Amino acid sequence: MTGPLRVAVVGSGPAGLFCAQILTEDPERAVAVDVFERLPTPFGLVRYGVAPDHQKIKSIVASLAETFEAPGVRFLGNVTVGTDVTVEELRERYHAVILASGAPLDRRLGIPGDELTGVLAARNFVSWYSGHPDADFDPSVLAAETAMVVGVGNVALDVARMLVRTPDELRRTDVPEHVVDALAGHAVREVVVVGRRGPQFAKFTNKELLELAEVESADVLVDPADLAHASPATPAARRLLASLQKIADREPRGRDRRIRFLFDRTPIGFVGETAVRAARLARTGDPTVVEEVAAGLVLPAVGYRSAPPAGVPLDDDAGTVPHRDSRVVDANGEVGGLYVAGWAKRGPSGVIGTNRLCASETVAAVLEDAAALDPRVAVPVDDLLATRGVPVVDWTRWRLIEAAEAGLGAEHGRERVKLHDRKDMLAAARVH
Ligand SMILES: Cc1cc2nc3c(=O)[nH]c(=O)nc-3n(C[C@H](O)[C@H](O)[C@H](O)COP(=O)(O)OP(=O)(O)OC[C@H]3O[C@@H](n4cnc5c(N)ncnc54)[C@H](O)[C@@H]3O)c2cc1C
Repeated sequence: MTGPLRVAVVGSGPAGLFCAQILTEDPERAVAVDVFERLPTPFGLVRYGVAPDHQKIKSIVASLAETFEAPGVRFLGNVTVGTDVTVEELRERYHAVILASGAPLDRRLGIPGDELTGVLAARNFVSWYSGHPDADFDPSVLAAETAMVVGVGNVALDVARMLVRTPDELRRTDVPEHVVDALAGHAVREVVVVGRRGPQFAKFTNKELLELAEVESADVLVDPADLAHASPATPAARRLLASLQKIADREPRGRDRRIRFLFDRTPIGFVGETAVRAARLARTGDPTVVEEVAAGLVLPAVGYRSAPPAGVPLDDDAGTVPHRDSRVVDANGEVGGLYVAGWAKRGPSGVIGTNRLCASETVAAVLEDAAALDPRVAVPVDDLLATRGVPVVDWTRWRLIEAAEAGLGAEHGRERVKLHDRKDMLAAARVH
């Protein structure tokens, strides 16, 4: 290898930024890292997934931002790898390319009625309330009185909680004003959270459940009958069951909104002419017992799949990029100089910190191979992007977007209000 180790990281979520941090933590190592991000904004799902009322978790942004204080680390926002520049072009220009592009596609339930209006992946709702510039969510579906969330992971609880938050609570977050307005005026009075298996298999954490149980604006209801036959196998499942039991034992507080859990129910279809009005749920283990539960909005939260840039292999069943010890493999074996980290590598599992361990394994593979890696073309990527007229949002320009969001917040008496329109973001960043 000649000169400093040059690494391109695709994606500025936790996985990509942890890779950049680990690559630059040894002051003895000469390394230059370019972080490519298709959005004008960094931080991936920390900005566009983690619930807005989880400001404590979101504060990790400060330590992720420190990535760009290291000399040699650059942010190239508003650059889509696969469109503005290909993976092959990056492989020609860098010793190593690390794919940390997440898992942005939703898994579908694949049951009759899946396509009805009002059946939407939870991600659409999450992206909308998070102010994602590509969010595809029509808030008119919030006219439904009963919403159903399918799935019992933390994302399902986030979504249920956000549906019952009051305008005052929402104004303490950074969600866009139009989101506050739509959620303030919506009709949803009941959110039914459906789990296919028994409560002992619920994937949400006890912490998230307890937080939900404390939400002021809604009663949380658990049917004791759903807990009766549960046999928890782990200490975590035992804790979860104890919390569910406490919730089941409580007297409802008479709130005008409620969140109701249904366990051991498998959705087998949705009913409606063009728009969904009910879900058909079969008893798991006894498909002859079927009930119809009203739902004018259904938000499945049942997992994600990767969508890597063109030219990168995808394991269709797993929904992840195939790899051997973080080295991307295709039908011919290892693809030299191409690595993977984060949700693109593992699928949607673990917490933000899990991506650090994952990133350290990926970086270890890069460093192990470094001596044998050599880029083939010297023309810098900046020239390529300039020739193509790609308006790059660098770190300084991202700071301008942040400043504009603080300014918008001040206008509305809030700490910060997110920009959600790409045009406004680029105008704030002064790139056109
Ligand atoms: C709704 C939701 C809530 C969550 N809440 C929590 C929580 O409260 N606590 C917690 O610990 N974890 C939470 N998580 C999990 C956490 O967000 C993930 O573990 C983490 O974000 C995964 O990191 P990543 O970098 O692999 O992917 P991502 O965060 O998705 O980052 C991938 C980045 O790559 C970019 N990208 C994609 N394709 C391209 C391309 N072709 N070119 C350039 N850039 C590209 C994307 O725009 C994105 O910025 C939540 C996840 C979700 C979905």
